[in-house]
Amino acid sequence: NSSLHELDPDVAAAVDAELHRQQSTLEMIASENFAPVAVMEAQGSVLTNKYAEGYPGRRYYGGCEHVDVVEQIAIDRIKALFGAEAANVQPHSGAQANAAAMFALLKPGDTIMGLNLAHGGHLTHGMKINFSGKLYNVVPYHVDDTGVVDMAEVERLAKESKPQLIVAGWSAYPRQLDFAAFRRIADEVGAYLMVDMAHFAGLVAAGLHPNPVPHAHVVTTTTHKTLGGPRGGVILSTQELAKKINSAVFPGQQGGPLEHVIAAKAVSFKVAATEEFKERQQRTLDGARILAERLVQPDITEVGVSVLSGGTDVHLVLVDLRDSELDGQQAEDRLHEVGITVNRNAVPNDPRPPMVTSGLRIGTPALATRGFGTEDFTEVAEIIAAALKPSYDAEDLKARVTALAEKFPLYPGLA
Ligand code: PLP
Repeated sequence: NSSLHELDPDVAAAVDAELHRQQSTLEMIASENFAPVAVMEAQGSVLTNKYAEGYPGRRYYGGCEHVDVVEQIAIDRIKALFGAEAANVQPHSGAQANAAAMFALLKPGDTIMGLNLAHGGHLTHGMKINFSGKLYNVVPYHVDDTGVVDMAEVERLAKESKPQLIVAGWSAYPRQLDFAAFRRIADEVGAYLMVDMAHFAGLVAAGLHPNPVPHAHVVTTTTHKTLGGPRGGVILSTQELAKKINSAVFPGQQGGPLEHVIAAKAVSFKVAATEEFKERQQRTLDGARILAERLVQPDITEVGVSVLSGGTDVHLVLVDLRDSELDGQQAEDRLHEVGITVNRNAVPNDPRPPMVTSGLRIGTPALATRGFGTEDFTEVAEIIAAALKPSYDAEDLKARVTALAEKFPLYPGLA
């Protein structure tokens, strides 16, 4: 019963160092967030010891009476949060949620449509060496010259290729999708519509983004991005598809569910139903808008920096460096040098190689969780704009980052 520090000082030191990194830098990776202490407490609980193959009330192991309660709470809460008829809270991750949903609805060799990876789609939406690209015939769709999903192309490709499934969703896209239009097209060609709302689920929960649930046959999500919970996945569906989805998750894809993670998911769904959460998502959106507005000012566009689609409706901004001397790797490194963590990202028709790229994806959820408001995001935007200019004062910018980090202490009780 030793503590982590006593039993394994090597791992403990790395965990402590990571806590310090999170506390002392500004986290702006769009897919990241800070889980509440209560969520981490649930995830670090004795539920990690329990096998529970099956579903609440129908398990293949004894002693599941308490994990049944936890899993049912998680199911009921997320159904209520998004107005879904059915929910499976067992997928270990977003990728596994997508794999199970496709497994439930498709046969190998069927045709799927998804947003091309280089245009903002996810690996699981049909990338060549992902399971989705290997098992299914993929017809990718794209964004147009203005950076917006080309619905005319979606309709044309759907009519030509007659897919069994259309995926609407993204990992790097700054606008909202037209779910009703996707559903109309899916219905016209007899396809299922699956929406992957992993990135924007928190905004939907807060009522600040259209809800895909009424439009889609299946909606998948992660629980750790804007939703702010533990790392994991969820599948929402109509009642009609629930049985197929459940059996695709277990025994189709997974063995024992991670009930400690499901407990943490349940806690995060409770948080996501609060007014406080809604206010946080509003600050998330405000922060992204402030950043986008700053990065289209003349002093920055004249050095070749701009933002894809000219702005944002969501929690992230895609910085376009195609006309800049700075490539994605250099820009990521520069922000890292001043204490801001982002990831480089390919932009549509990127002239630079995938490991370098000509873009940055910058998101605001984690800083909004930390408490950042309009004034703080304005300062962040100024720091980023200054860092992307040909000459910049790293020491000064780093001091400004430190001041912001100190203004909003993260996990003060932990160290
Ligand atoms: N779907 C989308 C849209 C994503 O952006 C991601 C992760 O970035 C995933 C699915 C996969 O989630 P995970 O990393 O939990 O497998």
